[in-house]
Amino acid sequence: MNLSARWIAFFLSSFITVLTVAFLNFVPGTSAEMLVVAGISCFLSTYLASFYAVDVLIFQEVDKIYKTVKKLKIKDFNIKKKSLFKSENPLKLLNSEISDYVTEKQKEIDELKRMESFRREFLADVSHELKTPIFAAQGFVHTLLDGAMEEPEVATRFLQKAAKSLDGLDALVRDLVVLSQVETGELKMQFEIVDLVQITNEIFDQLEDKAKKRKTTLRIKPDKLKDCLVVADPQRIYQVLTNFIDNAIKYGKQSGKVTVAFEETKKHFTIAVEDDGPGIPKEDLGRIFERFYRVDKSRSRETGGTGLGLAIVKHILSAHNSSVTVSSKPNKGTRFSFTLLKAN
Ligand code: ADP
Repeated sequence: MNLSARWIAFFLSSFITVLTVAFLNFVPGTSAEMLVVAGISCFLSTYLASFYAVDVLIFQEVDKIYKTVKKLKIKDFNIKKKSLFKSENPLKLLNSEISDYVTEKQKEIDELKRMESFRREFLADVSHELKTPIFAAQGFVHTLLDGAMEEPEVATRFLQKAAKSLDGLDALVRDLVVLSQVETGELKMQFEIVDLVQITNEIFDQLEDKAKKRKTTLRIKPDKLKDCLVVADPQRIYQVLTNFIDNAIKYGKQSGKVTVAFEETKKHFTIAVEDDGPGIPKEDLGRIFERFYRVDKSRSRETGGTGLGLAIVKHILSAHNSSVTVSSKPNKGTRFSFTLLKAN
């Protein structure tokens, strides 16, 4: 039974009336009529007094608190009104409402704390990454000012090094801008029909010098494939493929082979970028998509890597409703693949 103000007042007044009547019964000269009159008046007065005390002073105040909590819950969690009116007892309701509310809020606080620590870590990583090229360029410029400028050969070498550091800084800032845009959803994808064979050939042309320097052979499989028409954002998918191919050249072996393979199914194309390099250790495979995670830190920096490429790629492909699959075998090579919807 639910304990409403009425019931509490009823039990309290009945109890007091019984006690009063029992007491009056022992007082000499009290007639039965007097007992009835005293009983009724005692019951009515105690009922009204206790009803007022319980209802106005306790229940109505509790009810106000409950309504406030209910409003908060409806606003915050979109809970159906019906479910809030199951019980008549505001104390019980208040209790369950507050405990639900506190649980939800605790979850939110935990998530905010997690995000806060993530933000702090990210900020520390970004500052560290920015510091490296800035300090390097600063060092070269100061050495030049301190006298290295007098020798033209040394001056040229130092200026080239300073320029390389500043190029790295520029690439890092650009990658950070893209990453923040894709993460906040600011960078809207412009989907259209694109030919991935054409895009791959353009990237091969662009990376030709880099590949030549490492004597890397670039090829498309199957080699007679005329086109690969998919629905994608051309600029962003260009960035994805460039990152995979560039990484395959950079981290693949000298005189190695980099292949972009296309596989057609009924509704999709699977695109894979494969190399025959040293591969990625098993324990690093799950982490290479994290920001600034590098397996070989010095090789990445030396080749101008920002450590953000794969993090950006993951976001772009997720905006294409796709995801990256990576497999790697030590000294055999690495394969990054993803699937896109076929045009038509
Ligand atoms: P980076 O700018 O350092 O190249 P990425 O996010 O593109 O950053 O890649 C993260 C790390 O994954 C690289 O530093 C490298 O250690 C590793 N990696 C990526 N692709 C390959 C590959 N094809 N073979 C071996 N290691 C790779």
